Amino acid sequence: MERDLTAIEISGTAQLRAWEDDVLPPVESLGQGLWSVPVPMPQSSLRYVLVYLLELDDGVTLIDAGWDTEEAWAALNAGLAKAGYAISDVRSVLVTHIHPDHYGLAGRVREASGAWIALHPADAEILPQRYMQMDDLLTRMREHLLECGVPTDAMDTMRGASMPVRPFVQAVLPDVLLEDGDRPEVPGWDLTAIWTPGHSPGHLCFYDERRRVLMSGDHILPRITPNISFHPQQTSNPLSDFLDALEKVAGLEVDEVLPAHEYRFRNLAQRIVQLRGHHEARLDEIRKALRERPGSTAWEIAIEMTWSRPWSEIQFWMQRAALGETLAHLIVLESRGDVRRTSGVPQLWELTGR
Ligand SMILES: [Zn+2]
Ligand SMILES: [Zn+2]
Repeated sequence: MERDLTAIEISGTAQLRAWEDDVLPPVESLGQGLWSVPVPMPQSSLRYVLVYLLELDDGVTLIDAGWDTEEAWAALNAGLAKAGYAISDVRSVLVTHIHPDHYGLAGRVREASGAWIALHPADAEILPQRYMQMDDLLTRMREHLLECGVPTDAMDTMRGASMPVRPFVQAVLPDVLLEDGDRPEVPGWDLTAIWTPGHSPGHLCFYDERRRVLMSGDHILPRITPNISFHPQQTSNPLSDFLDALEKVAGLEVDEVLPAHEYRFRNLAQRIVQLRGHHEARLDEIRKALRERPGSTAWEIAIEMTWSRPWSEIQFWMQRAALGETLAHLIVLESRGDVRRTSGVPQLWELTGR
């Protein structure tokens, strides 16, 4: 994930202050029956996921759930209590995507309340392989990393780089699948699920047209760009999907964006311009690297790119994310006809010279 420091209007001022003070932001009523509940994440620079509570006549709906840890469970329960609810009042959990910080706690909420869990089918499909029978995915990950040119001595740590987060997810299946444009059954709300693949194949944003808010999950965040990686559980061109999915939400009538991390903000359209600009600059950087070193592997290009710290100081699981991001950009350039790759192992990339 990369920083973007260009100003947009931050409406979550208490959240921004808490971010700067390195403390958890408060549980907040946002009006219109909507609450923001920060749920802490272990071992993460993102610190917390923002769970949104939507009040109903007979309970509450959650957007996202948090990690499956006792600390997260306690924070979610405390947030519900502050809004005047108990965990048994939860009627449904709409999950933006499969990542542990969003999906991890959904199963425990369902157990405690009988709530139904909703997810997009593309994320539901990869769930068993990701969290239940992981051997096949590890094999495919190894082949994938070899193609990228990851050196053999880094292979074993890189291949299992996601395994440490596995305990933070209860691997349960969803009850309801939400497709693009579906209107989940949340009485009193005017919600539409918007399929926004890129960060994950089945990422969903939730738009309430009447309240003019967009719950953007990890698709659009105010400070950082979400990690868009190519890897064995992704679509064939995730960054292209992501850029298309930015356009998809750009025209919505939105007063405030409610992201799953960091803080609430306004100026959705401006933020989208910034995100597009960030990726175009990255594409230029890769073209430049290939001009200087034709025949590089994706791994070699990743090392050449600018990151928030020197490559040798980046943790191996973040190196894998950086590699995935580099590859996602290479695939966009390939689809535009700007670069091509050899078919061997590892694959070597070069400019087409168009
Ligand atoms: Zn995520
Ligand atoms: Zn997240």
